Amino acid sequence: MQPTVKRLTPEDHSRDSAGLTYVYPVVSRRAGGLSIGINLNPNNACNWRCLYCQVPALKRGSAPAIDLPKLEQELRGFLHELIYGRFMQEKVPPEARVIHDIALSGNGEPTSAQEFEQVIRVIGEVKDEFPLPDTLKVILITNGSLIHRETVQNGLGRLAQLNGEIWFKLDSVTKAGRLQVNNTRMSLARMRENLCLAASLCPTWLQTCVFKLDEAPPAQTELDAYISFVDALLRDGVQIKGVLLYTLARPSLQPEAARLSKISEEWMETFAARIKALGIPVNVTP
Ligand code: SF4
Repeated sequence: MQPTVKRLTPEDHSRDSAGLTYVYPVVSRRAGGLSIGINLNPNNACNWRCLYCQVPALKRGSAPAIDLPKLEQELRGFLHELIYGRFMQEKVPPEARVIHDIALSGNGEPTSAQEFEQVIRVIGEVKDEFPLPDTLKVILITNGSLIHRETVQNGLGRLAQLNGEIWFKLDSVTKAGRLQVNNTRMSLARMRENLCLAASLCPTWLQTCVFKLDEAPPAQTELDAYISFVDALLRDGVQIKGVLLYTLARPSLQPEAARLSKISEEWMETFAARIKALGIPVNVTP
């Protein structure tokens, strides 16, 4: 393959930066290295519409049919280039020249792909062809809304065998908050059920985006509800690895973009301390 990317920076998340359909490289500030992204939503379709979403021309919908042979070929070709070619030296900053993970994270919800389980199988098979460290993670970044589907659960079982991790989106646990931030009417009960299922199948982190809306941070009632929810989960023995707390890294591409702004590190650390007091780790990315 002949990658055509310019030198990558943490700000560069363009899904077509390697000129491929499904596979793209990202220097991830959260991961601290190079992340091999797999985008199962080249049609820019998601079943949610988060206010901070950075997908261009986002539309409501599901992933299209996945061309599995093409995905396999792209992943194999890209891994070959990373390990044996000059891509790392020419395109990746020196401090990020380590393959940190393979991440299913794209322009929409990855689990909406009908072929989700087969995709995980393909990743496992191709990964095994290369001398990659055992510590390499395969991460699924998901809004968690489709985990009740059997095929998704089968995929999550396979994911666990690949040193997998689920990053499960949890921005709000109130009906009004979830409607406002994620534009979803999915019930809290369904979300909790899906979260419990996820955590039972594969190591699961909560990923929580905090930001100011019209200059105001999340309301105290929102924060209290979040803390109570996580506390109850832990008391019920749900195995949550921890919380990834982050704020806006790049501008939203949604119509509300001008109303959103980053929240301060101090605010995040204060909230993180409340979560940590429940007994789980929190990784803050200001
Ligand atoms: S779940 Fe992800 S892809 Fe979907 S709208 Fe939200 S941020 Fe965008």
